[in-house]
Amino acid sequence: MKESPNIARVLLNLSLDRTFDYRIPESLCGRITAGMRVVVPFGRGDSEREAYVVAVGSDSVHGELKEIIRICEDHPALPPALLKIGEWMADYYCCAGELAVRTLLPGAVRSGKVKVKTKAFYFLNDMRKAANYIAENPRAKGRCAALKALMLRPGIEAEVLESESGASKAVLRELVRLELVTIEDRAIERNPFAGTELLRTEPLPPTDEQAAALKVIFERMEHPESGAPHVILLHGVTGSGKTEVYLQAIARAVEQGREAIVLVPEISLTPQTVERFRARFGDMVSVLHSGLTDGERYDEWMKVHNGKVKIAVGARSALFAPFRNLALIIVDEEHDTSYKQSEAPRYNARDVAVMRGKLENALVILGSATPSMESYYNAQKGKYTLCRLTKRSDPSILMPDVKIIDMRLEGNEEGKLPFLSKFLVQAVRERIARGEQSILFLNRRGFARQMTCDLCGYVAMCPDCSVAYTYHRKTQMLTCHLCASSREAPAVCPNCGSEHIRYSGAGTERIENISLDCFKGARIARMDSDSMTRPSLYAKVLSQFRRGELDILIGTQMIAKGLHFPNVTLVGIVNADMGLFLPDFRAAERSFQLLTQVAGRAGRGEVKGEVLVQTCTPFNPPLMYAANHDFEGFYSEEIAVREELKFPPFGHMMIVHFRGEDPAEILRTAAELMEKIRPKLDPETVVSDPAPAPIERVKGKYRFMATFRNGKLAPLRRALRREIYTVRRPEVEIYVDVDPISML
Ligand code: ADP
Ligand code: ZN
Ligand code: ZN
Repeated sequence: MKESPNIARVLLNLSLDRTFDYRIPESLCGRITAGMRVVVPFGRGDSEREAYVVAVGSDSVHGELKEIIRICEDHPALPPALLKIGEWMADYYCCAGELAVRTLLPGAVRSGKVKVKTKAFYFLNDMRKAANYIAENPRAKGRCAALKALMLRPGIEAEVLESESGASKAVLRELVRLELVTIEDRAIERNPFAGTELLRTEPLPPTDEQAAALKVIFERMEHPESGAPHVILLHGVTGSGKTEVYLQAIARAVEQGREAIVLVPEISLTPQTVERFRARFGDMVSVLHSGLTDGERYDEWMKVHNGKVKIAVGARSALFAPFRNLALIIVDEEHDTSYKQSEAPRYNARDVAVMRGKLENALVILGSATPSMESYYNAQKGKYTLCRLTKRSDPSILMPDVKIIDMRLEGNEEGKLPFLSKFLVQAVRERIARGEQSILFLNRRGFARQMTCDLCGYVAMCPDCSVAYTYHRKTQMLTCHLCASSREAPAVCPNCGSEHIRYSGAGTERIENISLDCFKGARIARMDSDSMTRPSLYAKVLSQFRRGELDILIGTQMIAKGLHFPNVTLVGIVNADMGLFLPDFRAAERSFQLLTQVAGRAGRGEVKGEVLVQTCTPFNPPLMYAANHDFEGFYSEEIAVREELKFPPFGHMMIVHFRGEDPAEILRTAAELMEKIRPKLDPETVVSDPAPAPIERVKGKYRFMATFRNGKLAPLRRALRREIYTVRRPEVEIYVDVDPISML
């Protein structure tokens, strides 16, 4: 045993799920800690590789060790607690350790390419010397002006000093030569909010329900180790003041000298949301999301790293803000599927937040108007504490009236159903007449769902994916929404040559066309990923809508969340059945959430809102419960189904996915893997052997999956993590999805 630790265990950017030991050279002894980025020699040529130190110790089972070449920074990039989260993610989500560690750092920081931005600043060396110089050289106007300016401020950017004092570069250089001033490069921050001054808001006096929730929250924050659950589920209807609860909880964290993280779904990271936090906490807030430039992201992360801010607001990855004294993690809209990352590590930020809170003694608040079945179940079981906000914080704003329209009764003589019912058309017209606004929601873009031939039954399918092409009329293209490939729409059936081509099913483009026809003279805009090709367009349409320059906004999911428009008094849900019959056990839950959320866009102002839901299945439970604003009713019906079928939250689930061009090859690999892991299976675990996924082919690749449910899954996870490498072959891609959110 040596006296001081001289061996570092590191992870390399290699996608190998193992660590390597390196010797710490004398010159770096005592300077290397876990979380640090270093450069090591690797492979036959000893090429230089970047690596992360995960542990420092004195022993290694390996004999000859190579030496670390150098360190990248003097301070660990990752706090030790965060590194633990990385280890946990690798283990739980069954991914390479180095992948999990990479996830903890934004690319801009990891790459090492983005640097602190600096500018030249002038500083005064000595106040008295400067004063003397001014007294003795009154005619040196430029020099005196520059010195006077510097006597008033601790440091001035070179360009600013030149323009303010009128002193030229040469004059300033002369002052440096006379040792009156110094010029130095200083770090400056790129500020994504430059030019936006916000009015400060003060905490609002809480309503009774808010006060009750805050009481529980404050208690837990004061006594993190009381043994009470460290997770609070805040179930509050839209407009009940959840955000105000978050704000006051954060204020308490700051008072304690501790920090807070707020996660919001990427889609609700609108300026509106971020401004509410900045208006309360000003420069204490850092914002982390994908819309920032690399430089901005680097600076925002550094502000957290250097302790300059106390609050981080952002999407999924903001969970890894490198705070060291975390009091609070808030996950708003905790049920939102965007918290799940679709690439490895396939983590769910909501669940990792619960884990980070546990490891760092921080309180976790999960907020939602439509909590996930998992979280509500945990609250029912007492694992989480449930706090409720049942009323809108402004009681004069009523919950909207939801009416269900049975589309089966809307058929014409030939039995053909219209896309917009008489009721909906009438309701929109009334709104236009009254100067109020309407939203029409349809979760499908494009013009028609598919192109079919009435003569031979041909359906235009994507050749690489097992789905039908969507027809886009404006561009006259057939487009695959899975792989984005497209082709020109044919004039005649490619199969039989007939002209009896039919475009069935509606997308937002078609609803827009119908609306232009139906509501003559109305100002209409469409918002979906086809029409919103630039972020600036999105902002433009939203502000037009807000200013009342549009009567009708037609859109997909893009308009479903978070937006707040007081003058919207009607929301039409064009097809509520869509998504309801997907082969996924969460289809009902998703429908309920989406319907509730879209309905929540109506009636946020003084006029009571109305929601019209068009459906061919008027008695389906998610729809009926959503119409009655009855979350508990929906929950108790749905939880019974889950229990009966032993689906989550009754036990966990894992899927092993197999992808490749040759189905026989996939099945062979899958069988090999299954054979290796079968001995590790808990007898309680329900196994579905590798079989084609509901969408069998995407981008030319066949997709197979094996699912595992219930029982102890940890031994299985560990076996999988190891065995995937032993059966892996280039032709077949294998990956594990733990706690999947989609079964397709
Ligand atoms: P949620 O996040 O639950 O949808 P918000 O926090 O956005 O609800 O609150 C909805 C509206 O009610 C906001 O305009 C907010 O300023 C206001 N509000 C929240 N709490 C109070 C309160 N205690 N007193 C008065 N107004 C409040
Ligand atoms: Zn045909
Ligand atoms: Zn395709």
